[in-house]
Amino acid sequence: MFTKSLEASVQPASVLHPTPEISAGMPLVIDNPRACFEVCSAWRLSGETIALVATMGALHEGHLALIRHAKIRANRVVVSIYVNPLQFSLSEDFSQYPRTFEADLAACVQAGVDAVFHPKTLSLSAHLEAITQVVPPSALTHQLCGVSRPGHFSGVATVVLQLFNCTQASVAIFGEKDAQQLAVIRRMVQDLHCPITIEGYPIIREADGLAMSSRNQYLTQPADRRAASVFFNMLRALQAKIAIYGNLSQPASDILQSLVSTWLKNDPMVRDRVTLEYFTAVDDETFLPVDHLRPGVRVLIAGRVGSIKDRSPEQPGVRLIDNVLL
Ligand code: AMP
Repeated sequence: MFTKSLEASVQPASVLHPTPEISAGMPLVIDNPRACFEVCSAWRLSGETIALVATMGALHEGHLALIRHAKIRANRVVVSIYVNPLQFSLSEDFSQYPRTFEADLAACVQAGVDAVFHPKTLSLSAHLEAITQVVPPSALTHQLCGVSRPGHFSGVATVVLQLFNCTQASVAIFGEKDAQQLAVIRRMVQDLHCPITIEGYPIIREADGLAMSSRNQYLTQPADRRAASVFFNMLRALQAKIAIYGNLSQPASDILQSLVSTWLKNDPMVRDRVTLEYFTAVDDETFLPVDHLRPGVRVLIAGRVGSIKDRSPEQPGVRLIDNVLL
């Protein structure tokens, strides 16, 4: 019954099979949702399991670590490469977001990915209000990144649900780098009974501690690059404090404020380049703010990096995020 109705609605599939000469080890490149569903259905019907790694491309070592983990978790790995218009607001960098598909595909070949899902679009409209959307609980989204990016997490959750449906993955791997996103997705899976397991993967960092990000390539000035590493230095200082003292009785806000004074305000090189957006401690289960720091609390930081005097609406500085679990 299910198969029949599926057949009836099948559009001509567009799976860009690699040519036979280069097919060994090449992933299938799939450019539309229906074809993705067909390929993944065939795998599922033959008893194989599927792991999904959802990305916006510009792949780096952080993404590749997720892919390597996905290979351990299922027989087949699908990597989606899709710069999701629904999660960018009008003032954000959707058109400027790096698009490096050839290099990404080469990285996926190297990593032994089975399919690269690279749809031109996943929605009838690039505007959330024009489509059916997932609206995560406001307690999760009206804080942290949700304050400066209204609608962002609805855009993320909507596309992630589309990807779950297209791939029918039994497991999906998401980076802890986007910890609020991970919390939103876990909650969506729980609330909507999505038949999938969500796994978080630790943050992969550069040698100086900077969390790897597709946006790091915009830190072209050495001073900006140095200033950017202050975020992890602040987080690491907190981790060290907790490792020594355990629970801290001083209010979390006082401790975070004193770190801001020490690391951001006292150093002119950093002060001239870093604008803090938030520096907050939350309970890792509920993602609600906590009053005191203790092991198991997650501390998150976000801000913009780049010479403050040279900023403009077109050049607002590079937005970076980071976090640690205490
Ligand atoms: P993006 O392409 O930025 O949307 O990221 C795709 C996935 O890779 C998300 O689950 C991110 O959390 C994850 N990711 C990005 N950077 C890192 C990193 N440095 N370490 C671990 N995971 C990451």
